[in-house]
Order: sequence, then C-alpha cells, then structure tokens
Amino acid sequence: MKPARFRYFRPDNGADVLAILGENGADARILAGGQSLVPLMNMRIMQPKVLIDIRRCAEFSYIRREGDVVAIGPLTRQGEAEFDPLVAEHLPLLAAALPHVGVRANRNFGTVCGSLAHADPLGELPSVAMALDARFVIASTRGRREASADEFFISALTNCLDPDEMLAEVRFPVTPKGAISVFDEVANRAHGFAVVGLAACFEVDGGGNCTRARFSAMGAGTTTVRLRDVEALVEGRRLDDAAIDAAGAAAARGVEPSDDIHASAAYRMQVIGSLVKKALRRARAAGPGGS
Ligand SMILES: Cc1cc2nc3c(=O)[nH]c(=O)nc-3n(C[C@H](O)[C@H](O)[C@H](O)COP(=O)(O)OP(=O)(O)OC[C@H]3O[C@@H](n4cnc5c(N)ncnc54)[C@H](O)[C@@H]3O)c2cc1C
Repeated sequence: MKPARFRYFRPDNGADVLAILGENGADARILAGGQSLVPLMNMRIMQPKVLIDIRRCAEFSYIRREGDVVAIGPLTRQGEAEFDPLVAEHLPLLAAALPHVGVRANRNFGTVCGSLAHADPLGELPSVAMALDARFVIASTRGRREASADEFFISALTNCLDPDEMLAEVRFPVTPKGAISVFDEVANRAHGFAVVGLAACFEVDGGGNCTRARFSAMGAGTTTVRLRDVEALVEGRRLDDAAIDAAGAAAARGVEPSDDIHASAAYRMQVIGSLVKKALRRARAAGPGGS
C-alpha cells in the first residue's frame, strides 16, 4: 500500500518549521527519520495532510554539553548518538540502550527525538529518558515550554504535544561519575522489538547501600513505566538478597502489562521482576565506583 496524498514541505530552518506547523496544526506531522512514520503512512494508519520534513534543518542536529546537562537536538540520529563521546562519557545508560533500537540501518535514519515523540511503550529511548529524568523542550510559534518524562508520555503513541508544537530538544542530566547504568531487554528475536525491558541507574555507597535508584520498564503498560515503589524500597537500603527479592516482587506487582501475540501479561510481569533483580545484583557486584 502507498500513503494517502499529502502536501510536502522541506524547510531549512527551525523558524519555518514552526510557522508551517502553526499554520497547519493537527493536519501536519513532522518527518524526522521516518522509521515509524513512513510505515504507518504506508499502511494508512496515519494519514497526515501535511508533512514537514526537517532533514534540511542543520541547526537541529547536535549533541552538546551545557553545564550538568547533555542536550540533543531534534534531528540528531540515533546512530550518531550511539558513537558520540559525550554520550559515552556522560550518559552510559543511553549508550547502552541505543544498540537495541532496531538495526543499524534504522538508527542511521531514526532520530533520538523522533523515537521519544513516537512514545512507543516498547521503545528503548522513552524508558531511558524516564529513568534519567530527562527534560523535554517543546517549541511552537507561541514560545517554548518544558515537560518532564512523566508529563511527556501520555499513553501508547501519544505524547503531550499540542498540534502546533514540536519536540525541539531533549535534555539529559549528566549521570554522576560512579553511578551504575543497566539496560536490559528480552525480545523474541535478535534486533526485534522488545517484549519487555528495563532501564536502570543506581548509586551505591562504600557500605553497599543503594543511595539512589531509578527504574523504568518497557512493555509494562500503555506507556513506559517508572517503578517508583521499587525505587523507594531499595533507596537507603543495603543491597542484600532480601532487598533484591523484595524489589523484584514489587516490580512484578507494580506493572500492568497486557497480553498480546508475543507474550502474556503474567509472563511480562515475571520477567520485569527478574530484570529488576538482575540489575540490582549487577549494582551490588559493581559496588561504589560502579561501571
Ligand atoms: C525494522 C524496524 C525496527 C524497529 N525497531 C525498533 C526498536 O527495536 N525499538 C524502537 O524503539 N523503535 C524501533 N523502530 C521504530 C523506529 O526506529 C523509531 O520509532 C524511530 O527511530 C523514530 O524516529 P524517527 O526519527 O524515524 O521518527 P519518525 O518516524 O520520523 O517520526 C515518528 C513520529 O514522531 C513524530 N516526530 C518526529 N520527530 C518529532 C519532533 N521533533 N517533534 C514532534 N514530533 C516528532 C512524527 O511526526 C511521527 O509521528 C523500528 C522501526 C523499524 C522500521
């Protein structure tokens, strides 16, 4: 099948992108890497009347350090971020997750912000953004605003953007030195979409106590799910077997996945619990100084 008819714009600067978006609102869609949008248009699941191709906007492509934040622009490809030294040094969780997003050909086109805007509950990058407390910079001709990951991800394939807004930047706080980053997922086939997954980041002190924990699960509900109950259980606690088992059980209890052709809800709950326990054992083994 081929897409329904649409008008195509290819502006070369951000002001024009926002102006076209402002004029066309709900009829328009941003085309970034096209890795999700084009298949959905080909299947006519999405039928935007106006397509705004941002690939000529050179100003949209950057990864830069700004104080305690690494800022990523709306046209930065996943494949660029995967091999970027700033990402490797300051955002090890993102670096660990990126190779799981499709195959290299997808990542050569797909953008970091496009994956976030797509808001797939099985997407790796929404989970990473949630676990790292990323901030989403949202722009329109009316001005700019910021949203947290909790505010940005509304439900499956739905974000908090108004029709005239675009995701203009994602801002990741620099991960503290010595923090332990763990990304893990279970898929039915290599490089396929995950059935479930976990993005986690910990800090552990010299006494083996977890001083800070962040968990975000994929395939756990209608959007990426921050496991706050699990965080509360392990923070300030020694990572002994009892704490790890309790965290795994709380994780399995705290998610509401659904059944589909790939896995049952019960299987997903069990595996999310196991991934949490595995991540905590890794944090315990790494100890202070991390990896
Ligand atoms: C074979 C294959 C395998 C895949 N495997 C995975 C996988 O394992 N994990 C995974 O997470 N994804 C996977 N995907 C999906 C895809 O790779 C990502 O969702 C994709 O990278 C999204 O980025 P993009 O730049 O291609 O976005 P596009 O497809 O261009 O856009 C996606 C959506 O986001 C909107 N959008 C894009 N940028 C912005 C912006 N700056 N502001 C506002 N809205 C915006 C678009 O309008 C559209 O609605 C796969 C895709 C394919 C084809």
